[in-house]
Amino acid sequence: MTADIDSVKELIVERAKELYSRGLFSTSGGNISARIHDTIVMTPRRASEGGWKINVQDLAVCDLEGNIIESGRGPSIDLDLHLAAYNTLPAKGAIHSHHPLPSAFAFAGVPLVAQEGGEWRGLDKIPLIPYAPPGSTELVAHLTEGFRQLRERFEKHGYGIVLMKKHGAFIVGRDVDFAIRAYDRLLEASLLVVLQKIIQL
Ligand SMILES: [Zn+2]
Repeated sequence: MTADIDSVKELIVERAKELYSRGLFSTSGGNISARIHDTIVMTPRRASEGGWKINVQDLAVCDLEGNIIESGRGPSIDLDLHLAAYNTLPAKGAIHSHHPLPSAFAFAGVPLVAQEGGEWRGLDKIPLIPYAPPGSTELVAHLTEGFRQLRERFEKHGYGIVLMKKHGAFIVGRDVDFAIRAYDRLLEASLLVVLQKIIQL
């Protein structure tokens, strides 16, 4: 079990740095977590500041109720959002991002409707939840409702995405790498919709 958690910690550090180096995480926020058994491993608060220079000792570890097992650099303000994902869906990986492409839809309050077909399976109806301040119980409640709407599609496709109004995106997957693949699809779908609109002007 300890060895399992250690390897998940290494995976989270590695993937967080990869997301940053690929420009999918910035220095302005974002977080990534994984579930192993009934334990959650998550990037710490202010992980983005300074360019994601985190190591395994910095990570927070808790149970599904949020009881801290290892605080590392202290759990992120978004820990409750990740717990909502794991308590609502059979997810094993979760990513929260402020990337401007999907966030543009979230800020504009425009639902992102990607065309079905090919690689876009399951991206046709992405829930857009109402705004609530970061760290608030309202935001957890809204996101939980978004995850509930995803349940059927998550079981079918292994991933799910919720857009958070005036905030960003939340992506869950059957494992961390599946969540990253879903994040890639989200970015491509967002860019495709924007470019289509520009071409059609
Ligand atoms: Zn955020």
